[in-house]
Amino acid sequence: MNVTFHGAAREVTGSCHVLRVGESSVALDLGMFQGRRAEAQQKNLTLPFTPSELSAVILSHAHIDHSGRLPLLARHGFDRPVYATPATRDLCAIMLADSAHIQEKDAEFLAKRRREHAAPLYDQRDVARLMRKMISIPYDTPFDVAAGIRATFVEAGHILGSASVVLECREGNMSRRVVFSGDIGRWGLPIIRDPEPPQGRQMGLVEEPKTDEQGVEAGDVMALRREVPVRARAASRSAAPSRRSLPGWSGDACLRRRRRVAQQRHRAARRPDRKTL
Ligand SMILES: [Zn+2]
Repeated sequence: MNVTFHGAAREVTGSCHVLRVGESSVALDLGMFQGRRAEAQQKNLTLPFTPSELSAVILSHAHIDHSGRLPLLARHGFDRPVYATPATRDLCAIMLADSAHIQEKDAEFLAKRRREHAAPLYDQRDVARLMRKMISIPYDTPFDVAAGIRATFVEAGHILGSASVVLECREGNMSRRVVFSGDIGRWGLPIIRDPEPPQGRQMGLVEEPKTDEQGVEAGDVMALRREVPVRARAASRSAAPSRRSLPGWSGDACLRRRRRVAQQRHRAARRPDRKTL
């Protein structure tokens, strides 16, 4: 068994790790690199493996830095399953179509204003092709991914549908349990359920979120790290992806705004009416 880190390693975005067990190869996430346009475009254009090598893909959650290159895989003829929770699948249908739209508009803008040619990585047809291959698996339901690899999604508490993935790997006499954390959320959030650290891990692949811009506190990450015996860390995440790829952020922001408005109304209702004084 071996794991190769193709993204979110020594940098922030582009999460992608490939787990190999015997003849099976499974990609864990295939996120988009974000940053300076030319540099990110170059990284995103090149897939780190031949798609036909993969037996399947497992997606931890819908954020673009974890899911954003999946349609590129479909464009290159990938015809195997992509597993995700039902909510992640629903979010991907919207967010990846939006990503394709943004890329098309960016390409139009560059061609018109700067006379630069920057073709979109993928289009709506690639997204549709990918969505046909995306299979929903509920939390806490073990499923066979490929020969020698069985997986279970558990709640990661990061955004709607986000999951950590427990992988049961068998190769000859060897049997090993690996936990891929995905992005781990906080405890006690108003909308999202708390993370559920899986029991009985043998090896953990943990991506460490940044502690301020995504609102994740170091104490929360440390709490999970105490639960998970870490042998490998995929990345030290030192900056957040753009906010348009953060439905968790926008959900919390909406809730905070609604609370602010309710408090203002409550205070206004308690203030004496000056006209009557
Ligand atoms: Zn995320």
